[in-house]
Amino acid sequence: MKCFYHEDREAVATCQHCGKALCRACASLYTPCLCVDCAQLLRDQQAEQARAAEEDRRRKYLDALVDTRSEFLRTCVYGAVTALVLGQTLFQSSAAGPERMLYAVWFFFIPFGWKLITYLQSFLPLTIFGTLWFWIFWALAKGIISIFIGIPAFFYQLVKTFFVQRKIQAASRSCRQDAEGI
Ligand SMILES: [Zn+2]
Ligand SMILES: [Zn+2]
Repeated sequence: MKCFYHEDREAVATCQHCGKALCRACASLYTPCLCVDCAQLLRDQQAEQARAAEEDRRRKYLDALVDTRSEFLRTCVYGAVTALVLGQTLFQSSAAGPERMLYAVWFFFIPFGWKLITYLQSFLPLTIFGTLWFWIFWALAKGIISIFIGIPAFFYQLVKTFFVQRKIQAASRSCRQDAEGI
């Protein structure tokens, strides 16, 4: 059998991908033994895979950013509901006054405090205290602490979301540039 690329040379091996006969010179080009066509094909496939992986990584990063933003908006909705419900419940009997509005505004921040404590909680090994009474007590304590740390927690989330928004814009801008570059 002759080499697929050189009709004057005797074949000593075959391409491991397509089975073409190869002479000694052709067979020694790549390890494992591949013909030039298959080597090019596999290189293209690898480049395509790398590009797809990079695209995937970028999309996940963008998704995480968008998630942070919608989490903030969701907490705003919870805040509005908390302000409405607590405002209605606590001040039903008393006449409406300006201080009632002020409290209602304060209640708006409670879910932000709650969210911050929940985040900090993830660093504590709380599962070791896993009795029902502990969790009831913990929920009460968390609610009370949330009232006091709500406002700073809100501004912390607000600043964070502001930077996340800028990252989203930068990320989608670079995606567009890539698409135009192709
Ligand atoms: Zn081949
Ligand atoms: Zn050859």
